[in-house]
Amino acid sequence: MKITDVKIEKFSAPLAEPFRVAFGVIEDSDSWNVKIMTDEGIYGLGSAAPLGFVTGETMETCYLVMKMFAQAFIGFDPMDIAGAHKLMDSMIHANGSAKCAFDLALYDIIGKKQGLPVYKVLGGTDPVVHNDITIGINPPEKMAADADKYVNQKGFKILKVKTGINLADDIRALQLIRKVSGPDVRIRIDANQGYNVETALKALTEFEKLGVDAAEQFLPWWDFEGMAEIKARNTTSVKIMMDESIHNIYDARRAAKLNAADYFNIKLMKCGGLYYGAQIADIAEENGVKCMVGCMQENKISITAGVSLVAAKKAIVEADCDSFMFYVGDDDGIAGGFDRAGGVFTLLDKPGLGIDLDF
Ligand code: MG
Repeated sequence: MKITDVKIEKFSAPLAEPFRVAFGVIEDSDSWNVKIMTDEGIYGLGSAAPLGFVTGETMETCYLVMKMFAQAFIGFDPMDIAGAHKLMDSMIHANGSAKCAFDLALYDIIGKKQGLPVYKVLGGTDPVVHNDITIGINPPEKMAADADKYVNQKGFKILKVKTGINLADDIRALQLIRKVSGPDVRIRIDANQGYNVETALKALTEFEKLGVDAAEQFLPWWDFEGMAEIKARNTTSVKIMMDESIHNIYDARRAAKLNAADYFNIKLMKCGGLYYGAQIADIAEENGVKCMVGCMQENKISITAGVSLVAAKKAIVEADCDSFMFYVGDDDGIAGGFDRAGGVFTLLDKPGLGIDLDF
């Protein structure tokens, strides 16, 4: 099989409201969809959702890199996923979102060629994934109202609460959220690099009292030693997770060696797609670390891929693939991929990603 053409199209859908985390506000939700055509009539879909302060890519730079890849892939064998990454890595360092778009489109083609959904291509058997929903930073009362809506009206059983600007506000918000959501809802937090070691240790004690399961990325992304210190000094039941620190397999190996985390948050946009995402999960498993798959402001093409990775890998036990529900109308309008009831996602038994999109 050979790649004959590559199309790139912008995908935009309005967010219901701006999304605030400790390091910034996400106002728009643009992504680049890619469609890779082959000489056998099979096509694959992928998507790139760059986020400047995490992946170092803007929409504009991502497009330039994708155009470069598009030219290089004409005539390439889409079944050769390792060769595809070797080619992309030889052209440009990092740029995980641009690489992810092509990686996902190739997996979509591989699944279609094999007659298997992507989660089965990756080795999975169970299509059901339990997903969380994220509460962005707002005044504590507004955060509690959001939690009330998600838990009591929409049936979510796992919340991820953004923190990391001010510990007193974080604790106040978590108290109100626990009150409205009841004792059985699982809560994890994400500080998005907003604390230091001492604040994090103080926070862990308070978070444990509020029944928080896990705490994500307390420190700046580069501070692996600080994260290892927090993990070593953590006497609570709250698990320590790294997100912005873990972009690639080398970060995962370093974090495992330093014993810096109980969990890695794998994001396809950081690591360049499913090929390396699966490898990060394998490194985690070898080292007794668990994983979650998270997301950027992604549409349902890459979300379906992320949920497929959760379904496929034993070490991935949590899912934070919720971005497509923050658009106006609680959905990005892309059909297929998976069915959803509250936070329970069931991947479709269709070849590839199970999404058809005309462009
Ligand atoms: Mg995070």
